[in-house]
Amino acid sequence: MIETDLLIIGAGPCGLFTVFEAGLLKMRCHLIDSLPTPGGQLTEIYPKKPIYDIPGFPVVNAGELVDNLMKQIEVFKPAFTLGETAQTIDEAEGKFIVTTNKGTQHQAPVVLIAGGLGVFEPRKPPIEKLDQFEDKGVEYIIRDPELYRDKKVVISGGGDSALDWTIYLMENKIVKSLVLVHRRTSFRGHLDSVQKVMDMAQAGKIELITESEVSGINAGPQGQVASVVINHATHGNITKETDHFIPLFGLTPSLGPIADWGLELEKGAVKVNTFDYSTNRPGIYAVGDINTYPGKLKLILCGFHEGTLAVQSAFARIHPNKKNVLKYTTVNGVNGF
Ligand SMILES: Cc1cc2nc3c(=O)[nH]c(=O)nc-3n(C[C@H](O)[C@H](O)[C@H](O)COP(=O)(O)OP(=O)(O)OC[C@H]3O[C@@H](n4cnc5c(N)ncnc54)[C@H](O)[C@@H]3O)c2cc1C
Repeated sequence: MIETDLLIIGAGPCGLFTVFEAGLLKMRCHLIDSLPTPGGQLTEIYPKKPIYDIPGFPVVNAGELVDNLMKQIEVFKPAFTLGETAQTIDEAEGKFIVTTNKGTQHQAPVVLIAGGLGVFEPRKPPIEKLDQFEDKGVEYIIRDPELYRDKKVVISGGGDSALDWTIYLMENKIVKSLVLVHRRTSFRGHLDSVQKVMDMAQAGKIELITESEVSGINAGPQGQVASVVINHATHGNITKETDHFIPLFGLTPSLGPIADWGLELEKGAVKVNTFDYSTNRPGIYAVGDINTYPGKLKLILCGFHEGTLAVQSAFARIHPNKKNVLKYTTVNGVNGF
């Protein structure tokens, strides 16, 4: 049983910054996230995009903001359960017990949900027996680019994720060869990225096959991906040998197990009281994209504010007899654990 003061569900930017504010009040945090790395949407959807509305940063790349948040909270030694989804919540003796889909149990007097858009599920292309190749060469998310070192790779998709990874894997000379397959001739991504991919194709660094879809996968002797069948709108089928097939069609978020936690919901979000971002269940708070209230804006800086107020209330709940006086970091500094 993992024990902590504040159990945070979701290690997106709002969950991460809440650790800092909780740390200033000497509350220890443990974070659970379904994804293998912290950062939420910033890491998963747009790690290389610039953000312009973080106070004090005229511009900061999403991935860099996550790195900075991780550095900022280091001093408070947060612990993580990554790659596991918070599934159930029970209450016993004034504490919550949150159990993940892998059976890891966490106990805390306060739970703060920073679940963002919820649990991300990859959009899968309609290819027969696709699931049989999962972990055998088919991946929907690039978790570790090193997996593709000196390998033949086929990526499909026409959005930022497909374009950004194509550029990254080629520019860093990771893959042996790369084929990008897209249904249309035009792309949905950043103009810069589209241009870069076009230039790479023209220079023969990658093979770009448009107006086409991957329609089948052929297995090797151990059942792993050996080749893919690519169906062109007018020219018919071609087969490409490959070690990996990576369909990058985006991730669909869904509220997931939190929807069954007895929380008051409105349009797929958790209703909160803006006094302290508490939910209808005493001891459970919700901050960031997952909550809703009149005037809600799904912005990172709003989530930072919400987490800051929520931990003040959490402190009063954990230490009913202690007085909490606001102290400036400029005066008190940051005293870690
Ligand atoms: C393309 C794009 C561009 C954007 N640009 C900007 C911008 O310029 N400025 C700005 O302020 N905002 C921007 N946003 C919005 C911003 O990304 C969100 O407001 C922010 O990510 C919300 O942070 P969060 O911590 O609440 O949630 P998220 O970042 O969504 O993180 C939530 C985390 O919770 C995890 N989770 C959910 N449920 C569970 C569960 N049951 N168990 C375990 N883990 C769980 C998820 O896996 C996820 O990692 C942009 C969003 C997108 C998609």
